[in-house]
Amino acid sequence: MHDLRLWMLMFGILIGLVFPFALIPLGVPASTSLTPLFFAATIIAGLLVATVNYLLTAKVVGSRLRLLAASMQHVEESLQAAAYSNDWSSCNPRDCMVAVDSEDEFGEAASSFNRLVESLAMSNQLAEGMTAMSEALASNLELNGLADATIRELASRTGYEAAALLVVDGGRVAVAGSYGIRNAEALVEAEAVSTVLRTERATIIDVPEGVEISGGLVDIRPREVRMLPVRHGVLVLGVLVVAAVHPSTREDLAVLDSALPGLAVALNNSLNHERLQRVAALDPLTGIYNRRFGLQRLHEEFKRSVRSGDPLGVLMLDIDHFKAVNDTYGHLVGDRVLQSVVTAARHTLREGDILTRYGGEEFVAALPGANRADVLMMAEAIRHAVAETVTADAGRQIHVTISIGAASLPNSAAENPEALIDLADQALYSAKSAGRDRSVVV
Ligand code: GH3
Ligand code: MG
Ligand code: MG
Repeated sequence: MHDLRLWMLMFGILIGLVFPFALIPLGVPASTSLTPLFFAATIIAGLLVATVNYLLTAKVVGSRLRLLAASMQHVEESLQAAAYSNDWSSCNPRDCMVAVDSEDEFGEAASSFNRLVESLAMSNQLAEGMTAMSEALASNLELNGLADATIRELASRTGYEAAALLVVDGGRVAVAGSYGIRNAEALVEAEAVSTVLRTERATIIDVPEGVEISGGLVDIRPREVRMLPVRHGVLVLGVLVVAAVHPSTREDLAVLDSALPGLAVALNNSLNHERLQRVAALDPLTGIYNRRFGLQRLHEEFKRSVRSGDPLGVLMLDIDHFKAVNDTYGHLVGDRVLQSVVTAARHTLREGDILTRYGGEEFVAALPGANRADVLMMAEAIRHAVAETVTADAGRQIHVTISIGAASLPNSAAENPEALIDLADQALYSAKSAGRDRSVVV
């Protein structure tokens, strides 16, 4: 406004100086117009017009500028309050936007300011989303927990209605977690998933057959499904699938882009952790629980059985004359016989039963919920299954039998899991003494 005042005054003086000359072509004699008195009068008139002009401009433009400035200041205060309290819900359009009430330069300035505020809010939201995502990734080492936390966080921070995280482990694809998808398992077989894994490139696809977003009362067919490889170094650890009824926005894509590297690191840690757990828990030759983990599981089942009063059966299995198998066919063939016996036992046991390699060719099976009669039935079923199993070696067919000793809660008065195993072991000894290839239940 100060500049405007100066320009107006200069303009008034200029008009006062030029006006007398402009009168000459109009017929006013120079002797009248080019006199000091006339110059003084026109300069004063020019200055008067300039002053009125300035005052009018200051009133009309200045007041609107002041209003705009005050409005911007209010927005700034509201944004600061929201940023400090981290509560953006109170930042409604009235408080965090300048009103656009005209189509002139003021309206344009207000619109530009609002767009700036929107970009600021978006980057703030992105930063907040990244923090929440990092927390979710850092606080979950277990694979399913990690997958669930990640995709829930993603779904809540973007416009995606559904998401799934598929992982590749040991060459197999599996669903680690999914959200809002009716049949996530169908993704494992989806051609697009193997394409993403092979090409290591993100893709937007047609919805695979059988995949729908569950949307309350009706299932929604997504309009856009994105599949993104989760890459860690040279490895592709999995595929992140996101689906939406509406096309992705710039913000959604920014969240995805910034989430992927952290997800890859967390997923790699989680997969390594799982592999270590597996190595620590399983017997490498037979793939069943090793003694330490098997006993740990038996302890858990024992406690549960004592608490609930539900029965718990324990079988002790031992291959008959196994030393002779080794002596006749060699240790490597003996190993394969061991594996065949385990396979036969596993196929016979129910889901939830726990088979453990207890010693060299001795196994313990814990049967939650099995009473004395069930235990005997299961022991006989396993014994028959093993007797029917053939291990082939260079044209020869190797048959082995097993002896089984069994005990069960609450039938046996065992105070702890070791005592229960001890009872089963005594029964096994009886089975061996009685001629082998039989089951004895105490
Ligand atoms: P019994 O009917 O009394 O149980 O006779 P057995 O020969 O099975 O019993 P013994 O305890 O004398 O021999 C067990 C054999 O199991 C001896 C050992 O070499 C063999 N064995 C233990 N672990 C393994 C293994 O991992 N692989 C192989 N091939 N043999 C094993
Ligand atoms: Mg034996
Ligand atoms: Mg033995």
